[in-house]
Amino acid sequence: MPLGEFDLIAKYFTRTVTRAALGVGDDCALFAPAPGMQLAVSSDMLVEGRHFLPTVAPDRLGHKALAVNLSDLAACGAKPVAFTLALAMPRVDERFLDGFARGLLALADAHECELIGGDTTQGPLNLCITVFGELPQGQALLRSGARAGDDLYVSGTLGDARLALEVFRGTVALAGAAFERVRVAMEQPQPRVALGLALRGVATSAIDISDGLLGDLAHVLRRSGVGAELQVDALPRSDVLAALPEALQRDCTLAGGDDYELVFSAAPGDAARVAAAARSAQVAVTRIGRLHADAGLRLIDRHGRPVAHTFGSFDHFKS
Ligand code: ADP
Ligand code: MG
Repeated sequence: MPLGEFDLIAKYFTRTVTRAALGVGDDCALFAPAPGMQLAVSSDMLVEGRHFLPTVAPDRLGHKALAVNLSDLAACGAKPVAFTLALAMPRVDERFLDGFARGLLALADAHECELIGGDTTQGPLNLCITVFGELPQGQALLRSGARAGDDLYVSGTLGDARLALEVFRGTVALAGAAFERVRVAMEQPQPRVALGLALRGVATSAIDISDGLLGDLAHVLRRSGVGAELQVDALPRSDVLAALPEALQRDCTLAGGDDYELVFSAAPGDAARVAAAARSAQVAVTRIGRLHADAGLRLIDRHGRPVAHTFGSFDHFKS
């Protein structure tokens, strides 16, 4: 006999809560932000065939479903507190549920983010998480705060997730160990929560890269009313990607998508504070360009020559 809805919720998704006043099991969960704190709230949905391939291991899928949500909290500089999980699946598959819950809850525990509720229903595999974070009133990192003259930075490396997707699609071939490395970037991204927290009061704007650097950066530029000059050869990339043809490196780093790194701006005088934030969060941060008063995004190569680009951002209704 397959587990019923309430048994599976009890077995896989019910845990003692410590931060929230009430978790799974009643009509609502209850929790309050700490005094003086503001709630930061974000939802992200993962749909099979659109956001993940049917071949992904269940524990990695559980990890990724929460990671992409924590990445939004990171981009705002919010500390994770709690999340809800709305789950549709075609049938009760305990092998799937066991792996999924393990990956999900391991990342949740690592960030002290409590599962406090959700919804479970039968249907095509679809995962929607809503995360709640907190931060001191008025201190959120926003897309709108960038200023002309600021330096532009990115965390980690870019492009591996897209490279892995292209290997799955058969447009690029990679040897086993190299493929495994980029596949982990695609299937188990690490949300930059510690960096987001360390950048509060330092970064003037921030966004996490989910749809590709150029597309996501364009949101910041538009909302802040500034332009940017980006050094394409300065974009950090893994050894695996760096060994491939330059055109592919540029496509993956500039417009790859699914990176979940933070791109942020800071005043040039705050460069040492940015470096200290990166050290405290144990994440590499690279300066990739500068913001200007005149609108638009200009790409230059290592010789200062303009680089033509036609990349758009990843748009779910177009690609
Ligand atoms: P309701 O009928 O009020 O919508 P449900 O019967 O759907 O409540 O859910 C019962 C309890 O289980 C609620 O507390 C709900 O938040 C929780 N819950 C349901 N699905 C999940 C899930 N996938 N993960 C965590 N909690 C869940
Ligand atoms: Mg319900």
